[in-house]
Amino acid sequence: MELKNIKGIGPTLEKKLNNLGIINSNDLLEYYPYRYNFINIIPISDVSLDENCTIKATIIDSGRVQYIKRNFNRLTFKAISDNAIFNVTIFNRAFLKPNLTVGKEIVLMGKYNKLKNSFVASDIKFNIFDNKIEPIYHLVDGISNSILIKVINTALNDTKTTDYIPSKYVEKYHFINKDIALKYIHNPSSKNEIKQAQIRLKYEELFTFMFKINYLKAINDKAKGLKREVSITSKDDFMKFLSFQLTPDQIKAIDDIYQDLTSINRMNRLILGDVGSGKTIVATYAIYVNFLSGYQSALMAPTEILAEQHYKSLKDLLQRFNINVALLTGSMKKSEKNKVLEDLKNNEINLIIGTHALISSNVTFNKLGLVITDEQHRFGVDQRNTLRDKGITPDVLYLSATPIPRTYALTIYGDLNLSLIKTKPKGRREIITCVKKEIEIKDVLYKMLEELKLNHQIYVVSPLIENNNSDELKSVFDLKEKMDLAFNKQVKIGILHGKLKNTEKDEIMQKFKNGEIKILISTTVIEVGIDVPNSTMIVIYNAERFGLATLHQLRGRVGRSDLQSYCYLVSNKDIERLKVLEESNDGFYISEKDFQMRGSGDLFGVRQSGDMAFKIANLKNDYQILLKAQEDSQEYLKTNAYKDNEYYKNIVETINFIN
Ligand code: ADP
Ligand code: MG
Repeated sequence: MELKNIKGIGPTLEKKLNNLGIINSNDLLEYYPYRYNFINIIPISDVSLDENCTIKATIIDSGRVQYIKRNFNRLTFKAISDNAIFNVTIFNRAFLKPNLTVGKEIVLMGKYNKLKNSFVASDIKFNIFDNKIEPIYHLVDGISNSILIKVINTALNDTKTTDYIPSKYVEKYHFINKDIALKYIHNPSSKNEIKQAQIRLKYEELFTFMFKINYLKAINDKAKGLKREVSITSKDDFMKFLSFQLTPDQIKAIDDIYQDLTSINRMNRLILGDVGSGKTIVATYAIYVNFLSGYQSALMAPTEILAEQHYKSLKDLLQRFNINVALLTGSMKKSEKNKVLEDLKNNEINLIIGTHALISSNVTFNKLGLVITDEQHRFGVDQRNTLRDKGITPDVLYLSATPIPRTYALTIYGDLNLSLIKTKPKGRREIITCVKKEIEIKDVLYKMLEELKLNHQIYVVSPLIENNNSDELKSVFDLKEKMDLAFNKQVKIGILHGKLKNTEKDEIMQKFKNGEIKILISTTVIEVGIDVPNSTMIVIYNAERFGLATLHQLRGRVGRSDLQSYCYLVSNKDIERLKVLEESNDGFYISEKDFQMRGSGDLFGVRQSGDMAFKIANLKNDYQILLKAQEDSQEYLKTNAYKDNEYYKNIVETINFIN
């Protein structure tokens, strides 16, 4: 049902709901409360002195507001409950004054002092519900909780819903009916009802998710690719040219790739390894094998800077194998671009490096056999389509530096084959990490000065661009001022943030790379994989705002040479959690800890397309349900029972269509 057909939703509210991604009544019903208020209303005679309580009362005067200071006001009015008449006081709610209608029944939460005849309220509810459990929704964009409760309840009565859990599993787990589950979740009358509804809705969400993953995996496993005739000795030939010994994990990954590329099945592999674990060289082997069998490769990076970096570091190495490499970026001159495009078409280029624009329609490959995408970016549906339209179905290799625990990787990346690189190359220096409180900032500045004197460079990271009136959070601009003061404006400082144009960003990054800028203050836009070996220190302000995995990624900007590097985490809060980073440089260990401490928050960023954004399930807390859903959906797929179910038939057809 369309939103505008729900009673109580006018054009303004409809628009606001649309902004939340709520388009129809089913979306609205899937806007779940994130917690509940358990309201226990008691008679005023039972209230004990100075204890928090909830009572019913009736308003008996229209109240008055006193403005005490800026941002501080007091609303008082008289109320009656049973036979007790008392004054109600609530702070900073002057805006409630118009709601004070004499004779209206309300619910008061707060503390009652019988001797003084006064009630100091922490909250007032003007809508009294029959049930005593109030669902609390995430509020945005001026939509109040009570409005949400109202329209969702209306939608509950008028919406046809579909149960996506196959009946076999509904029976197996004795799940409650979907309509009832939705009623319970939005309008519960007991904790037990909430629990029953949650389990059922979480299972449904995870079941449908895992079904898609399992189906993708099944067709990927079956997909026919290029069967290359390349000798196993290619491995030794390749390694002979390297100036270092590969780690055992790298060798294992290379073996996996060799298997993939020389079998008839299409490669669809993810190389998962910490920053600096040496994924690029593994990918280079894939390029080499692909070249030996006469095919072209494309390496796609998320930004031009990263693409250029890859180009510079790979060109020399690949020349030794007679592999011809070219770079293609938007900022190149038209004539240069045309030359590259021409050479690519004529198979004179064996490896092309660029951003994701590489797979755009005006790029014609001669014999594309392998696509590698670096750093998290999934190979999008559009890109697959473009390639398929060109009649190409290359092998695909993903590189990702977001370490996640293996068990989770197997499920959320379950459609890909996985090679893990856990051990780092020998001889790497560990980055020294310190957590500092803000009053200890002198230590940090002193260390910065030391590093600057050695002519090293420094990253400073803040969660905000501008200060939005928060005393607690330091912004990029605050920090610029602070640093200018600390170093007497003697040090060249650059600023980088997401609101700059790409060309501006590139320019600043270039200046940092060539050492003109000594301190780079930025938000988290400094990309994963950016390589400025001379930077030996990173200072992260308000570190409590970031997940451990993100902090670890940021820390990976330093420690990129044989110079000792340092990471300072500045925070007044959450010290315990941040200390995990003092302890360890191992991304997999850290992400495991992060999982234990914070839940899957950070993981939602892992899969970019948003298909990981669960509405009710949480990968960490609901892991047991996830495992069941995985097992069951796999079984469901295998028995072919899904072919009789409209919903799953549709999923399968859509996936077939885009692959
Ligand atoms: P990432 O996994 O972050 O992409 P890179 O592939 O960029 O890491 O590798 C980081 C650096 O380590 C590169 O300079 C690379 O040449 C070097 N390297 C890779 N493997 C080894 C190894 N086995 N021994 C020594 N150095 C290595
Ligand atoms: Mg890399």
